[in-house]
Amino acid sequence: TVPDGLKWDKAPCRFCGTGCHVKVGVQEGKVVAIAGHPEAEVNKGLLCVKGYHVGGILYGKDRLKHPMLRRNGVMERISWDEAIDVAARKIMEAPEAFGFYGSGQWTIPEGYAAQKFMRAGLSNNHIEPNARLCMASAVTGFVSTYGVDEPAGCYDDLDECDVLIMWGNNMAEMHPVLFSRVIDRRTRGEKVTIIDCGTRRTRTTEFADHYMEFRPQSDLAIANCIAQQLIAREKWDKDFVEKHCAFRADENEAEPTLMGVAISFDDFKKRIAKYTPEHVSEVSGLSVEELVQLADLFADPKLKITSTWCMGMNQHTRGTAINRLVHGIHLLSGHFGTPGNAPTSLTGQPSACGTAREVGTLCHALPGGRLIAKDEHRAQCEEHWKVEAGRINPKPGYHTALLWEKFCTPTDQGGDIRSMLVQVTNPGQSLPNLVKLFENKKGLEDKFLMVSDCYPTPTTELADLILPAAMWVEKNGVYGNSERRTQQWFKMVEPPGEAREDVWMTIAIARRMYELGFPGMRDASGNFLFQFKDDSGNEIPAWEYERFHEINVDRSLYEDYRPLSHMKHKHVAPYDVLVKHTGLRWPVVKQDDGSYRETRFRFSEFDDPFVKKGNEFEFYHSTSGDGRAQIWFCPFERHPEEPTDEYPYWFCTGRVLEHWHTASMTMRVPQLRGAMPNAYVEIHPDDALEAGIGNGDEVEVSTRRGSLKLTAWINGRGSPPRGSLFVPFFDEKRLANLLTLDALCPISKEPDYKKCAARIRKV
Ligand code: SF4
Repeated sequence: TVPDGLKWDKAPCRFCGTGCHVKVGVQEGKVVAIAGHPEAEVNKGLLCVKGYHVGGILYGKDRLKHPMLRRNGVMERISWDEAIDVAARKIMEAPEAFGFYGSGQWTIPEGYAAQKFMRAGLSNNHIEPNARLCMASAVTGFVSTYGVDEPAGCYDDLDECDVLIMWGNNMAEMHPVLFSRVIDRRTRGEKVTIIDCGTRRTRTTEFADHYMEFRPQSDLAIANCIAQQLIAREKWDKDFVEKHCAFRADENEAEPTLMGVAISFDDFKKRIAKYTPEHVSEVSGLSVEELVQLADLFADPKLKITSTWCMGMNQHTRGTAINRLVHGIHLLSGHFGTPGNAPTSLTGQPSACGTAREVGTLCHALPGGRLIAKDEHRAQCEEHWKVEAGRINPKPGYHTALLWEKFCTPTDQGGDIRSMLVQVTNPGQSLPNLVKLFENKKGLEDKFLMVSDCYPTPTTELADLILPAAMWVEKNGVYGNSERRTQQWFKMVEPPGEAREDVWMTIAIARRMYELGFPGMRDASGNFLFQFKDDSGNEIPAWEYERFHEINVDRSLYEDYRPLSHMKHKHVAPYDVLVKHTGLRWPVVKQDDGSYRETRFRFSEFDDPFVKKGNEFEFYHSTSGDGRAQIWFCPFERHPEEPTDEYPYWFCTGRVLEHWHTASMTMRVPQLRGAMPNAYVEIHPDDALEAGIGNGDEVEVSTRRGSLKLTAWINGRGSPPRGSLFVPFFDEKRLANLLTLDALCPISKEPDYKKCAARIRKV
């Protein structure tokens, strides 16, 4: 029975990068029902436990409802006019010393507005999404291999593959609906071999045919071993490699670069030769038989193999290298470009692809795959934004770790970032090495932190200005998920109190700066940078909140962005087409009959409209300029902080099924909070026995950066091997990132949250 007045509409789930589509039931102005969207190709009507409770995130009792300003150490309620004025003046005090920190949860229009505000408005590139912390290594892996970012394949590969290899990827908990697509095939009697290559047993392991447990960091050696075996046994795909691939390495292995230098096949063969199964077995802890078994799979051209990965490969001091190596073994073996044969990275956030990567909100990027460092790319954006030539600063901004370090260092000691605006993320919990990169802001009088959020978090605790934000279906939005799928939704309910849309905040701050005479907020003709018109051509002052909803600002911003997606053949679908779908995978191309066709498999002639007929495959943005993908040699290198006598354990952090990232939303849902209320530390039973630790005991875990009191969980949900500890990072009362290391991949600048040295003792 449908209750009176219940109305259904569609939206992507607010949480992970899987991008499930939900049906949202609204009655009397409130979200009262959630269902999996039966027509959504991603989830086919299913949701995970978070998705079924996604409506509950709107209704936590402690929603932030009013702007607040810290005066004499006390937070006081202020008006929106004052809040916008304070933010505008603070940025104008030192525009070059301002940082804008967003996320892969920014909608595409939000990220695009922030991008234009910074690059065109402030001539400042200190803009970063938190996605730097989760998928930057995937980006550099894709770019240095194919010349352009984001996966060639899509989720359909999971329906087609014979073998699924997960590289440090707990898909059963982190992308559960995707994992259920694979498990569902088994229940229908299809054969799919699941291989879990990881450093800790997880729920994914329970479903695996083979669990291959390797020592932290040694995934590099394992991938190299597979390549060595393919070559030593003459089992690489010679035809595919000769036609479509080239080889590459770093000139100086101690100083890796994004593009490296071309090498010959013979040079590659020489470099890879030492990664024999015997040698790599010693390095990795896998047996020779397991390594040979992996190589055998890739050596079999009849098998369809899909590799997936997420944070295990990306949050890695050699994150770019391991991404390249997994692409490399797929290319070398020809397990590429046909349904079921794909190396595919999964993203953690709902629009890490759409907003961070496609809109280009990273400090070195511009929309549509453009780069700040390229004169031509800056000129294209300046022309598109109608600002004079030279407006966009040619120097890339600070990457995330550096941006926060500069903000949390006294100005007279080189801390040249003085004000920050944070939207849609919680760096006070998610940055690594939290004391150095966040908490050192305490007591720095000349640093001003502005935070837009929906709930109080460790970040708002340190804020000087709090801006209450509308969330999910309280606003219009567009996201882009892990498989290049762009998804649109409309606002369905009102936000509480005075909470407002992030995109409005950005436009309103820009307008206030324009009124105060800041020249950057004018285009080359002297007009305000953010102009909006209704369908009749009438100008709408969308910066006035009373007028903001007279037009669809999201549609205007998205349509302004859309042509910029074409340069690298990332053609996203028109907004009005997205309205009718549960998402479309780019490139989306108009057909002769006026309809729009999405692309499932990029670079493959049978599906990608941009591959020249007769070419079979074409890497049309190849870095070698000849349509070829690059197979990299990258050496195994040891981790910079391995266990010692003083800190004898490997320490790893991660997520749990019930909570989404820092749990600022999911902790407000009673069912999810009740199911997983506190963080814990997993320890192997034998290690616990030796240390006199029992299940449920209070323990102290320490690294060189800090200590944390936690409850021990032995044989819990996951199970680390001897000498390893695991702590989830969702719990704001037990901040795992007080302990984690801020060592970065030298190319992607992504931190390694998965490995550092720790000790544990019973309290
Ligand atoms: Fe799907 Fe992820 Fe949402 Fe779960 S959290 S319903 S897997 S999008």
